Order: sequence, then structure tokens, then C-alpha cells
Amino acid sequence: MNDWVKATVVGRHQWAEGLFSLQFEAPIADYVAGQYIKVALDIEGERVGRPYSLVNAPQDRPLEIYFNEVPSGPLTPPLSALNPGDSVWLTATANGIFTLETVEPAKTLWMLATGTGLGVYLSILRTRDPWEKFERVVLVHGVRQSSDLAYGETLDVIGERYEGRFTVVPVVSRETHGSALGGRITERLEDGSLEERIGERIDPTLSHVMLCGNSAMIKDAKEILEARGLARHRRHAPGQYTTEQYH
Ligand SMILES: Cc1cc2nc3c(=O)[nH]c(=O)nc-3n(C[C@H](O)[C@H](O)[C@H](O)COP(=O)(O)OP(=O)(O)OC[C@H]3O[C@@H](n4cnc5c(N)ncnc54)[C@H](O)[C@@H]3O)c2cc1C
Repeated sequence: MNDWVKATVVGRHQWAEGLFSLQFEAPIADYVAGQYIKVALDIEGERVGRPYSLVNAPQDRPLEIYFNEVPSGPLTPPLSALNPGDSVWLTATANGIFTLETVEPAKTLWMLATGTGLGVYLSILRTRDPWEKFERVVLVHGVRQSSDLAYGETLDVIGERYEGRFTVVPVVSRETHGSALGGRITERLEDGSLEERIGERIDPTLSHVMLCGNSAMIKDAKEILEARGLARHRRHAPGQYTTEQYH
């Protein structure tokens, strides 16, 4: 049974068509960066809840989620229409194991995201964990259009704070955009152009890779990484990649 708490929307931002962030005030329990809560609305007499990663760091408030509207979905159309002052339900406790808690230190942490999978990394990057466990962090964000490259200012602030240790690589599939790589993240992994951009190989002795987003990216990336000798990380059997599948 979910233990629901009532939350008030205190902020809303639309990044592009169908792409939103919502901020909430609510009394939820302490959590670890990388975890998710369920967000729910009562729709036609039924409580409809879906999991969303928290974007804010555990020590910061308000709580924040980043999501895209799925027009055929039951929750995201009404969720994206909320405004400050409106109420939603949140689970009182966050869940999930897509965290750095049990991950072994290595040289480089690779954070690979498609779409709104970016959000979870912002929470992790605003904690000390990645900077204590890794010398360098590479964030790879795959989107269709450059207008979907959200949270640019937040990434700039992190880049200034950890100068020389943080690299962001946008991968834009449907248009040519500045210095962004084209196509899909997995294509750029396969042909080596992503690692060439970074000047470093993804290797079990050097790297930990986090994968967050759609199932196609995660499935293809897992195959590529396993062929290179990386293994899935488990709490009691340390490995070199971790995954969080949104859909
Ligand atoms: C652990 C976990 C964490 C998640 N965190 C986030 C998050 O931080 N941000 C976020 O945007 N989503 C996240 N999701 C997905 C989210 O829970 C919902 O599924 C999504 O927002 C759509 O909700 P819905 O009720 O409108 O449609 P649903 O009934 O959930 O889905 C309708 C259909 O759309 C597909 N779908 C689901 N999500 C997407 C999407 N983003 N783009 C395209 N198609 C999709 C589903 O596979 C399904 O076929 C997460 C999912 C999981 C399992």
C-alpha cells in the first residue's frame, strides 16, 4: 500500500512543447539522490499514480520532477495542466536503487540519458557522491530536437563548480545542432565517436556507466557495454553499469 501525502504545486516550467517541470512542497521522508516518488491525481474517482525521479538534490527544496506529456497517457496530460496552488498526491517515501550508494569508485562516471532521463542525474550531480567517487563525469543527453535540451543553466552551474571534471555531450537525432553529436546515443557508442569526443574509452577498469530513459536505448547500450566486458552492477556483486527504465 502506498502511503500518500498531499503536496502543493509551487512551481511550473514549460521547456518546450510537451516538456515540463513541476515543483512541490510536501513532507516526504529523507531519500537518496537517484530515487523516485510516485505522483498521483484523482481522476474520475480513481487515484492514478506514476513514478517520477526527483530532480532536486535530497538536501534541497522544493521537490521537483521533469516529465514529458504522453498524449495517450492517463496522468501526464492533467499533470502538465497543473499550476501553482494546485494539489497532487505524492508517496511519502521515495524508492529505487538507481543511486551511487553501492557503486565502486572509478576514474570516470558516464551518465547516459534519453529525454527526461536527464532529471535523475541532476539530483545526483548536486550531491558530493559523484565528485568523491570519480575523477571525471560525462553526461550524455539524447534528444530528438535541440529545443528538448532542458536545464542548460543548471548544467552550466555544475560545470563551473567542477571545472575540468564535467563534460556534457548533447546527442540530437532529428537536426544538426552546434557541437552536438547526431543520431542516437547507442549509434555514437557503437561507432566510437562518443568516446573520441571525450578522449577516453569506456572500459571496465576505468568506467561506471548509468543508463536512464527508454527501453530501446537501455537494451542496445547494455549489449554494447557487455560486449566490452562491463557487467550489471548489483548491490552484492559490484559491476560497471546501472539502469533505470522509464518506459
Ligand atoms: C522508476 C521510474 C521512474 C520514472 N521517472 C520518470 C521521470 O522522471 N520523468 C518522466 O517523464 N517519466 C518517468 N517515468 C515514466 C512515468 O512513470 C510515466 O509512465 C509517464 O510519465 C507517462 O505517464 P502516463 O500516465 O501519462 O502514461 P502511461 O500509462 O504511464 O504510459 C502510456 C504509454 O506511454 C509510454 N510512455 C511512458 N513514458 C513515456 C515517455 N516519457 N515518453 C514516451 N512514451 C512514454 C508507456 O510505455 C505506455 O506505452 C518513470 C518510470 C519509472 C518506471
